[in-house]
Amino acid sequence: MDNKFYKINIYGCQMNVHESEKIAGILEEMGYTFTNDDNLADIIVFNTCCIRENAENSLIGHVGALKPLKKKKKGLIIAVGGCMTQQNGVGESLMKTFPFVDVVFGTHNLHNFKNLLENRIKTGKRVIEIKEGDLSICESITPKRTSYPNAWVNVMYGCNNFCTYCIVPYVRGREKSRMPSDVINEVKSLINEGYKEITLLGQNVDSYGKTADFNYDFADLITEIDKIEGDYRLRFMSNHPKDVNEKLVLAVKNSKHVCRSIHLPVQSGSTKILALMNRKYTREEYLEKVNLIRRHIPECAITSDVMVGFPNETEEDFLDTVDLVKQASFDGAFTFVYSKRKGTKAYDMDGHIDEAVKKDRIMRLVDVQNAINREKSKKYNGKTVTILCEDYDDKKGFYQGRDEFGRMIYFYSNKNLIGEFVDVTVVETGGISLKGEIKG
Ligand code: SF4
Repeated sequence: MDNKFYKINIYGCQMNVHESEKIAGILEEMGYTFTNDDNLADIIVFNTCCIRENAENSLIGHVGALKPLKKKKKGLIIAVGGCMTQQNGVGESLMKTFPFVDVVFGTHNLHNFKNLLENRIKTGKRVIEIKEGDLSICESITPKRTSYPNAWVNVMYGCNNFCTYCIVPYVRGREKSRMPSDVINEVKSLINEGYKEITLLGQNVDSYGKTADFNYDFADLITEIDKIEGDYRLRFMSNHPKDVNEKLVLAVKNSKHVCRSIHLPVQSGSTKILALMNRKYTREEYLEKVNLIRRHIPECAITSDVMVGFPNETEEDFLDTVDLVKQASFDGAFTFVYSKRKGTKAYDMDGHIDEAVKKDRIMRLVDVQNAINREKSKKYNGKTVTILCEDYDDKKGFYQGRDEFGRMIYFYSNKNLIGEFVDVTVVETGGISLKGEIKG
């Protein structure tokens, strides 16, 4: 049999990166080999994201650009999946707009991707399958992992929170938790295979088990995983501040492998805006969660997501956000501008903010967070820290890795150290990333 090749174009978040590993697993099991070259590929898959409108626009441009190749190479199969196709009517409209697209499948149809593809190959007919409602958990797909020494493990799918700016609950369905034994066994085998950093994934890992028929929560899960022997780190994301509690913080504190690093997305520092976002906590309650973490684990890194320009955000609301960012003194923050998302409640709200105002606010917020980053970086000067070496930058010729607090440190070495824990002394500090030298 001739070699057959696949290519996957990934859009959006870590959840999508991991789902693409599952698509790759299915394709490899069918005998395909990975390529990065469109011209060589026999199948090109687009794993889409609909969180931001620009991801959707770039997807449309990229699919459209394949038309000439498809004309030249009749056997090429083009498949489009992911959460964009799961939106009402979008899958059908993609089929109409791009008559050369062969397979369209929703996020809830991933486990059936092999059948859809075989169907297309056997019958020559275009296929679309988008299952409405909630996802059925499928344990039979073995992902083709691409990010050694890191591995991603889903603990749950979907979301019940309905933040008014977010499309996720509409395209990923309600929360569903995997069985604890399935998660624990997957982590065990990854550690046996030599993975060094496992990240447990969910839209809101803190509600793990809440809607399941087992009596077991996320703190129980990480405590149990922590008992697995080995040289590895455990991380988790993302958290919802309303669900972070003392039990979880103590589980992190008392563990051997869980990194003392918690991502706690605040979104806004204004209680009025938080209510409009349906975040279900106030500014004070959020800061109390920050205190709870720092009370038990003073050195714990806390990172966040912070949005500006949500509808009806006044200058005063924005200044509340700036003030909260300063008080919380985040160890890193993903700062971004609110962008309209059709299908969400915020899309239809009055009071959308002028783009120039949003731009001004984001620049001011970034300045504040950058100043905090620089201050925190200074504290690393001369310190020796253990990092997990994760990657090599071909262009710059250095290795890079993160400490348990998530700080990226780069360093030079003649030896390939990817996958090893390395002690480095920080010799140069700048913004967020640091330069180190191997100890000794
Ligand atoms: S918690 Fe809010 S922001 Fe996060 S996925 Fe759910 S609805 Fe979206």
